[in-house]
Amino acid sequence: MSNKRVVSGIRPTGNVHLGNYLGAIRNSVALQDAHQGFFFIADLHAVTEEYDAKLLAEHTCATAAIYLASGIDATRSTLFVQSHVPAHCGLARVLGSIAPFGLLSRMVQFKDKSERQGAKTCLGLFDYPVLMAADILAYKPELVPVGSDQKQHLELTQQLANRFNKRFGPVFVVPKPLIMQDGARIMSLSDGNSKMSKSEPNDRSRINLLDGADAVKAKVHFAKTDLIKGLEFGNRDRPEVNNLLTIYQLASGKSREHVATECGDMGYGKFKPLLTDALVSYLEPIQTRFARIMGDRAELDAILKQGAERAGVIAEETLKQAMSAMGFAGRT
Ligand code: ATP
Ligand code: MG
Repeated sequence: MSNKRVVSGIRPTGNVHLGNYLGAIRNSVALQDAHQGFFFIADLHAVTEEYDAKLLAEHTCATAAIYLASGIDATRSTLFVQSHVPAHCGLARVLGSIAPFGLLSRMVQFKDKSERQGAKTCLGLFDYPVLMAADILAYKPELVPVGSDQKQHLELTQQLANRFNKRFGPVFVVPKPLIMQDGARIMSLSDGNSKMSKSEPNDRSRINLLDGADAVKAKVHFAKTDLIKGLEFGNRDRPEVNNLLTIYQLASGKSREHVATECGDMGYGKFKPLLTDALVSYLEPIQTRFARIMGDRAELDAILKQGAERAGVIAEETLKQAMSAMGFAGRT
């Protein structure tokens, strides 16, 4: 097996949706052949905004099951829960000492989210990108498959790795984000200018990976469109149409050119049922596998336990190297 590594995570903040799948999960699955995969459920990142403590454990299990149902193979890759590997927090703490406050305050996600949360904004939200850098750097990966919303955080991770290596010696590998062109940013079904998100309260704004045929049909039916005749990719003034065509292209497995020709003259009355059918067929195998995996919780727990053990050995070692380079006294 290759010793090149790849790392990616998902927050257990709700229903995993098509944007998560097309932007990150499917790329993670594809990379398993040539890389050692480390995939985690980012539960420590889920408590940085208001959340329901009664649902966190359930969302964590379901998100792990989604990873497996999507094709993450626990015999080849390491699947684990972030909070089960305490070295992530240790590494975040020491990276905090070289993370520039000004840079963190300028992170777009922090600015957006803190604006929405006002007085409820917490320290965890502010240093989210530092913990994310630790999540990644702990495994010295070559690649990090993410959606384009994480680009800025990945750049910060690179900066922290470079800064650390320059000051204390070459401990970290500077990772590259893997942001695919198609699917890097799937937009909300109700607003073509906002990305599809788990934490958006309106469930109709997204296609969840576990949505059944009726839900998909209703959501596609209510998806925002416009009154202009014909369907086209790439028109900035028609973000909703571009998004629906992109989703159709990726779910049907057809090329962009094929879809542009096939759908160019269509009205929504013809296109929306086509999109619905493509989505239902695309999601069905994932849903069947998900049900099977969730039916054996002991097996799922065992996979996550073994994953945390494997990940823990590597993350602990990196933390030790980083602390030693920084001059901490070693434990005898
Ligand atoms: P939340 O609203 O709770 O932040 P989210 O939908 O943004 O949820 P995350 O768990 O934050 O999901 O992100 C998991 C992965 O999915 C990341 O790699 C992220 O870049 C990617 N991702 C999230 N939303 C989209 C999207 N709309 N299109 C493509 N990729 C996405
Ligand atoms: Mg997010």
